Amino acid sequence: MHTEVLVLGLGPAGASAAAEAARRGRSVLAVDRKREAGRPVQCAEFVPGMVGMDVGHLATSARQPIRAMRTFVEDEAADVKANFPGQMLDRAVFDAGLVDEARQAGAQCRLGVRVRSIRADGRVDLSDGSVVEAAVIVGADGPRSLAGCAIGQCNTALVETRQITVPLLVPHQATDIFLSAEIPGGYGWLFPKGRVANLGAGVDIAHKAALKDIVAQLHAALRGSGRVGAEVLGMTGGLIPVGGMLTPWGALENTLVLLAGDAAGLTHPVTGAGIAPAVHSGRLAGRAACEWITGSRSAGTEYQDELESVFKAALDRALRRRRELSETFAAGMQPGKAALRRGWIAYPEYWAA
Ligand SMILES: Cc1cc2nc3c(=O)[nH]c(=O)nc-3n(C[C@H](O)[C@H](O)[C@H](O)COP(=O)(O)OP(=O)(O)OC[C@H]3O[C@@H](n4cnc5c(N)ncnc54)[C@H](O)[C@@H]3O)c2cc1C
Repeated sequence: MHTEVLVLGLGPAGASAAAEAARRGRSVLAVDRKREAGRPVQCAEFVPGMVGMDVGHLATSARQPIRAMRTFVEDEAADVKANFPGQMLDRAVFDAGLVDEARQAGAQCRLGVRVRSIRADGRVDLSDGSVVEAAVIVGADGPRSLAGCAIGQCNTALVETRQITVPLLVPHQATDIFLSAEIPGGYGWLFPKGRVANLGAGVDIAHKAALKDIVAQLHAALRGSGRVGAEVLGMTGGLIPVGGMLTPWGALENTLVLLAGDAAGLTHPVTGAGIAPAVHSGRLAGRAACEWITGSRSAGTEYQDELESVFKAALDRALRRRRELSETFAAGMQPGKAALRRGWIAYPEYWAA
């Protein structure tokens, strides 16, 4: 089977890439192992306000506005950052909307199809038995991207997460962040979504055995203060790449491979936020794919330059802060409150030199 652009993964990055390339008139095949777009949800579902500029259908997937961020350092009272606008989404509706946009633009989107392997010559084996040849592969297949590994660009630094959905007993319009030396390499969160809330934590993957207790303790504390109910309405988790941006392109013989979203390591290494970078990089990857097909041999490097100009400064700072905390843990010590503050975006210390 031949297509001009083969997109691996139909999360926000892949669906955005497929839509962009199809809008520009290219033949696009996009596949995802999920049977239904966006399900199961593996996300805390917060996006900053500016995503609305990129995604037309944001209004249909938004579930409640967020106005502030509150950060709790150990047992201290909350520090409030008042101006922190964003939206809580229904992530399944959000992702499905992006896949619909890709289909409307003319991309062939096939769900329930797994990428089995990527050969050294760029041909891709799918679980339905087909072998696909493409001028460009867009690897948008998440943190453990097969496309990334095929060109030697694998995410190695990862955070493991666990999240439960619980009844929210007191309406809330802020994202609550819990920082503690007992949550190594990550943080706890309570994100309100109407009458429910996503309550979870992420830790450096080396500490994943501690996650169940961390989330249970957070749940017990929030239940104790009357903010959430005891019932667990849902549970999810997943990996978050936190090692920063990879080289987002490479070649397999004549096939250009572009990486987007989590596969390119664009997720913020401190907050874990990756929806907005996935949408943005997906669009750019779709455009770069078309430029390659129309003869631009520099499409890969130009794509890398564009990603670096948008994301590199923020990713580099986050990586520095992440490493400062990791070094403390690696030395067998626990970070104090000042170090935890320096490692979180809400505090001026984070932004200092
Ligand atoms: C628990 C948790 C909470 C999070 N909370 C937030 C948040 O509140 N805000 C935020 O901005 N970010 C959050 N993130 C990060 C965010 O979810 C990701 O950064 C975002 O989904 C990246 O989009 P993507 O399209 O690159 O990858 P994904 O959304 O992971 O999409 C990749 C797709 O590729 C498919 N795929 C993978 N391998 C194969 C294969 N072999 N064959 C076929 N298909 C394949 C997958 O099924 C998937 O649909 C969270 C992540 C986790 C785990």
